[in-house]
Amino acid sequence: MSETNFRARPYILHEANYHQTREFRPNVAILPWGATEAHNWHLPHGTDTIEASALAEAAAGKAVAAGAHCLVLPTIPFGNNNTQLTQTATITMRTATQHAVLFDVADSLVRQGIRRLVLLNFHGGNEFKAIIRDIMLDIPIFIVQIHGFKLASGQFPKLLQESHLGHADEFETSLLLHLTPHWVAPLDSAGTGATNPGNLPLLTSTPGVWFPRDWETLTADTGDGNPKQATAAKGEKLFQQSVDVLAKLLLEFGNANDGEFPLIIRYWQSCRTV
Ligand SMILES: [Zn+2]
Repeated sequence: MSETNFRARPYILHEANYHQTREFRPNVAILPWGATEAHNWHLPHGTDTIEASALAEAAAGKAVAAGAHCLVLPTIPFGNNNTQLTQTATITMRTATQHAVLFDVADSLVRQGIRRLVLLNFHGGNEFKAIIRDIMLDIPIFIVQIHGFKLASGQFPKLLQESHLGHADEFETSLLLHLTPHWVAPLDSAGTGATNPGNLPLLTSTPGVWFPRDWETLTADTGDGNPKQATAAKGEKLFQQSVDVLAKLLLEFGNANDGEFPLIIRYWQSCRTV
């Protein structure tokens, strides 16, 4: 390959060579985390992974252009999909496995002096709060969880017909029509994403009550939310809004001083050894 074709971005670990990463001196790592699951009949199984990767790359690019030193790690493609295992080729990753993966990523980074990690999640079934608390007890690192699908949710009522966060819905379909239109099947092939309201209204509608939903009983087409009104233009606006918010956040996080609340890292004497 000729030198003129070289376009590897120093802030994307999957692309960058060692010379680039040494020069770049990252102080914040971003770990995008997706899932591999059915998304109605029209979106790819990799939808959450595509969204997490695209958002991380675009926001990091913007933050780096403004002086940040954040580095995007390769995306973890498997999420917690325990309740969807009746669907062909849906892969789940248990919480213990997710803890082990995140622990090893964090442990590796700390050994190189990178003590700030952003976990950018794009799958509703993933929840890392307890895992992050445990890891920060064992390793001197500061980990931030960001649910990427919420960053532009303030715009939903203005832009979308359906403003609740669902699955393979108007929001996600719009994002994919913007990001990877060549992987979105014609919308007339999609189901309506109608969901079973159930017969236990207190259990299903009381604020603060939560339980896992059996996905096959919940929805006939694997979707939650009607995708039919989705457009690439809506997706572009929502994606750009998310990128802007995340880029600013990465700058603030990267420029903060150690010890400046809330960026407190405890160096416990009895760190767990593995
Ligand atoms: Zn999704």
